[in-house]
Amino acid sequence: MSVLQGDFVWVDSGAGVPLGAEVKVTDTGQLRLIDDEGKEHKINKKNEGSIRPMHPTSVKGVDDMISIGDLNEAGLLRNLLVRHKEGIIYTYTGSILVAVNPYQLLPLYTTDHVHMYTDRRLGELPPHVFALADACFFNMRRNKKNQCCVISGESGAGKTESTKLMLQFLAAVSGQHSWIEQQILEANPILEAFGNAKTVRNDNSSRFGKYIDVNFTKGGAIEGARVDQYLLEKSRVCRQAPEERNYHIFYYMLMGMPADQKKILSLGSAAEYKYLTMGNCTRCEGRDDVKEFAHFRAALKILMFTENDSWEICKLLAAVLHIGNVEFEGTIVNNLEGCEIHRSSHFDMACQLLEVDPNALDKSLTQRSFTTARESVIKGLTSAQALDGRDAFVKGIYGRLFIWVVDKINSAIYKPPEDENEVRPSIGLLDIFGFENFNINSFEQLCINFANEQLQQFFVKHVFKLEQEEYSRENIVWKHIDYQDNQRTLDVLAVKPLNMLSLIDEESSFPKGTDSTMLQKMNQLHGKGDIYIPPKNNYETQFGIQHFAGVVYYDSEGFLEKNRDTLSLDLIQLVETSGNKLLKQAFHNELSTGSNTIKSMPTLVGQFRQSLDALMKALTACQPYFIRCIKPNDFKKPMLFDRELVMRQLRYSGMMETIRIRKAGYPVRYTFDEFLNRYRVLLKKKCCESICESMLSGKGDWKTGKTKIFLKDFHDTMLEVERIKE
Ligand code: ATP
Ligand code: MG
Repeated sequence: MSVLQGDFVWVDSGAGVPLGAEVKVTDTGQLRLIDDEGKEHKINKKNEGSIRPMHPTSVKGVDDMISIGDLNEAGLLRNLLVRHKEGIIYTYTGSILVAVNPYQLLPLYTTDHVHMYTDRRLGELPPHVFALADACFFNMRRNKKNQCCVISGESGAGKTESTKLMLQFLAAVSGQHSWIEQQILEANPILEAFGNAKTVRNDNSSRFGKYIDVNFTKGGAIEGARVDQYLLEKSRVCRQAPEERNYHIFYYMLMGMPADQKKILSLGSAAEYKYLTMGNCTRCEGRDDVKEFAHFRAALKILMFTENDSWEICKLLAAVLHIGNVEFEGTIVNNLEGCEIHRSSHFDMACQLLEVDPNALDKSLTQRSFTTARESVIKGLTSAQALDGRDAFVKGIYGRLFIWVVDKINSAIYKPPEDENEVRPSIGLLDIFGFENFNINSFEQLCINFANEQLQQFFVKHVFKLEQEEYSRENIVWKHIDYQDNQRTLDVLAVKPLNMLSLIDEESSFPKGTDSTMLQKMNQLHGKGDIYIPPKNNYETQFGIQHFAGVVYYDSEGFLEKNRDTLSLDLIQLVETSGNKLLKQAFHNELSTGSNTIKSMPTLVGQFRQSLDALMKALTACQPYFIRCIKPNDFKKPMLFDRELVMRQLRYSGMMETIRIRKAGYPVRYTFDEFLNRYRVLLKKKCCESICESMLSGKGDWKTGKTKIFLKDFHDTMLEVERIKE
């Protein structure tokens, strides 16, 4: 192809998708290609053939990818790239919003922007997260249907920020400047303090999933909201990977709490606590823990936590840190391995804060009692077992404290409907952990990825399946568009009889079940298909699953233990003796049955599936919107666009097929009634005339005036007769 200076073209990049390039002239008058990454290419016989012209829409990029001329991966990718370079982070694919994380504060979210985007149709103005929030708000009232917005993307892609922006907009258009609006906004800093942490991927990574359902009055004012939380990563309280921190709240407290209060809790600096130093990182750049603590305390007040509540929370958190520093020493008595606790000031403080008897805490950490058929036996724990038991206790405390905090937030912001059957207008925002694939993946990753499979299926169903089924039902001429359907993965995970999750559950309740018997059953039942990838040999503990976003290998070790998620009876009984009210409230589920028996608590898989089912049901009852957050680079840096990383995210989210279907499809549809009701005003007179023409023509004379239609008596009868037939 021959090119001229200033032309834009596509060149093969050697690997991956073709790059965009501009034709420039060098000082010596030769034509050169400067590609999007700044590299210069000569034009010669070798590459001439591969140079292709670029569609004008790809040169500067377009607001809506549906209007892209180069409808291929290179076109999509470049569209986001050139926009990212100019600081334009939002792009539509029809009504789906693609948001590329700018990793810098952009002046896009002012009150002026809120006003600008209020009550405008999607696409009237440049793409924006506010436009989507406005569309939800508008449709909720117009269609009298609840709305939801599913926000997806990998860790660090910008889900939580987008959720906050949606809420900010909804609170602004609700427009009451009310206490409840402020309370809903201020619930976030509390949730983030307890549930977010610095990870290598994100300095403010949410380690739990959440669904915020905002209720409105008929007039469109915010009335209340409810937060559902999913699967907090409890292991972080005891262990952090290199360069990662524990939950923010611990550092806030140690940095921000007044010295006299710290003294009462005997707290020092973060460096002194084992639980805060596992990742060798106690500071998070750009985060002022002192300021955040003040904000956190203020938010607690707004959400109706009393002074005493916040003090009790700090006491439990301090107890966690002190217990983390408790050490055990192995002993051998009568040839039996056991251990002893080092009685340190940390141990004493832990007892004081948990309000338990030191000897009782000592015993429940170093011994385990069993009941056999005939008698109850007490067995000493080795120091390794005692450490595991200690960590399980701490995780149990923190996990329950988190749930208690969320419940307390809900009791401040959620107003149950007066009439149970009343359906209130609402908008739900889903900000859930993205797909995860680490070097070592465990039970938690399986749960998280299962949730992502379900959400992907929800997306696939809405965007591809239901859409095409409806065209066929309505006899619309339509050429089928293929898409990646992840239903088969879901079948193996959770639908088929003896699916993987039910196998995990079954083995967990089976007294002799172990991780390896579970693995054997999985191999037997799913080893033949192409979704489950069995371990290479009998010694391997890793199995793989073909997820929509790629294969993930999971290490089966520890699965059953994690799924059972139980604390020893000794520890539950210890809590029962505690004088600490908050601790006891946090454990109310276990304690409600009385002593000596642990109420059989549902397994983690069981609980998680139940809450996901409820979530999917809620989402299915709504008109959904989708935000696809994209992470432009792995370094949390502005202005850096890693093409390969972005392409991978676009591919597995099915963006290419989505554009195809949104381009070819008719995503907006009305029944004839709805359409007429809404739009007949546009053609009032014509509509009337055309009804008369088709129903009354040849049946005598009728007239249209300026504002009315004039009929004979029998015309009226004829119309009424026809109307009754409809
Ligand atoms: P995770 O799954 O780990 O919770 P996430 O998708 O929720 O990740 P966020 O916490 O929303 O990611 O975003 C990560 C960081 O990226 C934010 O702390 C912020 O610094 C930056 N960021 C995201 N979106 C925006 C935005 N619209 N404007 C400015 N910065 C942003
Ligand atoms: Mg998040």
